[in-house]
Amino acid sequence: TTRIVLASRPSGKPVAANFRLERETVRDLAEGEVLLKTLYLSLDPYMRGRMDDAKSYAKPVEIGSVMEGGTVAQVARSHNTAFKAGDIVLSHSGWQSYSISDGTGLQKLDPETAPITTALGILGMPGFTAYAGLRNIGKPKAGETLVVAAASGAVGSAVGQIAKIYGARVVGIAGGSKKCDHLRQELGFDVAIDHHSSDFPAQLAAACPNGIDVYFENVGGHVWSAVFPLLNDFARIPVCGLIAHYNETSSVSSGRDQLPAVMRAILRKSLTIRGFIQREFADQRPDFSHQAGAWISEGRLKYKEDIVDGLENAPEAFLGLLEGKNFGKLIVRVAP
Ligand code: NDP
Repeated sequence: TTRIVLASRPSGKPVAANFRLERETVRDLAEGEVLLKTLYLSLDPYMRGRMDDAKSYAKPVEIGSVMEGGTVAQVARSHNTAFKAGDIVLSHSGWQSYSISDGTGLQKLDPETAPITTALGILGMPGFTAYAGLRNIGKPKAGETLVVAAASGAVGSAVGQIAKIYGARVVGIAGGSKKCDHLRQELGFDVAIDHHSSDFPAQLAAACPNGIDVYFENVGGHVWSAVFPLLNDFARIPVCGLIAHYNETSSVSSGRDQLPAVMRAILRKSLTIRGFIQREFADQRPDFSHQAGAWISEGRLKYKEDIVDGLENAPEAFLGLLEGKNFGKLIVRVAP
């Protein structure tokens, strides 16, 4: 099997040398185990956090261990009565071409129902994140203005489209004109703005003449700074991700301390700012699967996947994700 391990912890921005490709032979299966051949590996921003040795909601990857990750795999051999060779499963096998599982946590996928890659994207964890953040925290109402950042990505694209279904006016923020065109032309966003533009804050203000009622936060940084003055009274801010800050080495930022201004706004505008990890809403997953399946078949929820070939290309693709090089849900095709 080929596997990619964490060779060293990054200091700031990760580099290719933080990863190492290894080959080893797969051991024999014990009773109750299955051998999984990885077909697709999901690359997600949370993996940046697992590379650090910091206290978080999840354990870091140990140095020398296989990088963590969600996968779609095929059962190659089975010593477990619940699975037979050929079954396709959603697993968490990490960055490796083969893995052994005792069956715990494996979820069978039906390739007839939906393309199997969607289990890593629109019908999987990222799609559910969008749904859960909106349903429980953002709660967009008809006529309200919702802004979402990293809007062409796995989570953001679903956020914008679901908010449209709820009747909101949707403003998407993305990097570059190609992504912005896609948001408007393919996904039906009302406005799309390039956060690399020099007058980005002014463009955002012009796009939100009635202020912002829901800001789905995926980014932080300069995007948050542009959004913050536009927030309306009673605005809701699901804090889903802060990708602009994942490479920071210090928790204290340089520059002016914004906390007093933010706290004052929270008080005066009665803001709701709430962080969440999608897992805490796991009991809503069946509702989501049902609902998202229906929206997709009705053509109201579209998705775009960015598929990279070859496990050996996973590190480079992952580094690109942290710089906006992906266009859609980033997935590695591990086996043809
Ligand atoms: P995406 O598919 O959106 O890919 C990441 C995107 O982030 C890039 O394409 C880029 O888009 C944008 N980006 C990267 N670096 C920066 C930067 N420095 N400043 C501004 N934008 C940047 O990833 P996901 O949809 O998988 O994840 C989106 C967010 O949701 C992440 O913050 C992630 O951590 C979070 N998340 C949280 C979960 C939870 O349970 N709380 C679960 C899943 C995801 P562009 O080119 O448009 O700038």
